[in-house]
Amino acid sequence: MNEGTVTRYGASAGELADLLAGWGEPAYRARQVWDGLYRQRRPLEELTDVGLPLRSRLGEALPLGLAPLHASTADDGETLKWLWAAGGDGASVETVLMRYPNRATVCVSTQAGCAMGCTFCATGQAGFERHLSAGEVVEQVARAQHASPQRVGNIVFMGMGEPLANYDATWAAVERLHDGFGISARHITVSTVGVVPGMRRLAAERLPVTLAVSLHAPDDALRDELVPLNRRYPLAEVLAAAREYLAASGRRLSFEYAMIGGVNDAPAQADALARRLRGFSPAAHVNLIPLNPTPGFGAPASPPRRVAAFAERLRQGGVGATVRRNRGTEIDAACGQLSTRHGLGGNSSRSAPVTMGQRRGGS
Ligand code: SAH
Ligand code: SF4
Repeated sequence: MNEGTVTRYGASAGELADLLAGWGEPAYRARQVWDGLYRQRRPLEELTDVGLPLRSRLGEALPLGLAPLHASTADDGETLKWLWAAGGDGASVETVLMRYPNRATVCVSTQAGCAMGCTFCATGQAGFERHLSAGEVVEQVARAQHASPQRVGNIVFMGMGEPLANYDATWAAVERLHDGFGISARHITVSTVGVVPGMRRLAAERLPVTLAVSLHAPDDALRDELVPLNRRYPLAEVLAAAREYLAASGRRLSFEYAMIGGVNDAPAQADALARRLRGFSPAAHVNLIPLNPTPGFGAPASPPRRVAAFAERLRQGGVGATVRRNRGTEIDAACGQLSTRHGLGGNSSRSAPVTMGQRRGGS
């Protein structure tokens, strides 16, 4: 976004009130607009209780920060993915909406790209472009909600980027999602690759969000290879920070583990993982994510039977485990597949360019 531009979902309630007061509007107007955008979750254009001239003026003063470049659907329309050009520099990011019968979950990106370089992750393979602002994160949720008949009740910070490497914007977005949209803290999950200082900061915050820690290996030798950040914050330190988070009362915790065939899915590795995590049970559990193959990583996904056996072995070792079903794999919308450098839109028969006149040339 251009320096100094306040976007629609970047503006605070106070900034909105100041803007409207400066235009000579009565004080209730700001509450009305805020209520419409956040509590009612409606697009500005649909706030018909605000007169059209004022809506137009607001739209110009507080522009949206994301322009849709492409949208695609999978799972019979239950999964939607957007590719956006973020304002100003046009950095590209993705958002995934997963609809269920009575609710919806939005997976947000916190950075364009990611600097952490996890070898199996498409975003990591693409490298780092820039941090997103809090307004750009909140807007992803707003725009997904506008497209969803179901109420968005869960947010997962599992899109592109490492949330705790962009701490301030991530936390400001969490607060707005909670205070503005009214999404409860336990339904907001922040996933981290193990940025220990960020995990410690998170433990001291006022909202007990759910923390997900991406492990992927039961020992440092293997984790060093898969997750380069492990060389800076090894497993013992990551687990100690996770323990601190758990100890900060009421916090919840889960561990993520991408199942990579022949790399981290052996029974002995399940046993080693169970030994390391047993102390957390039952307050924490492991989510096994079958690897989504990416172009830059040679190993295959673990076969389903091997994933099930790994889960069972963890349970026998005293650690709760579930296998996560991957939504949207055929449109590259699943965990770790988000990358704007390739696979734009995936399956062409189900994806359609969004024509908004803001398409970036050459991408
Ligand atoms: N940077 C954060 C959050 C985004 S990634 C993190 O790493 O935790 C969300 C989850 O998807 C992480 O657990 C990540 O390790 C996992 N993931 C990344 N690439 C994947 C892939 N190719 N297959 C399956 N899971 C993957
Ligand atoms: Fe970044 Fe997470 Fe991908 Fe690692 S897995 S490269 S931290 S987005």
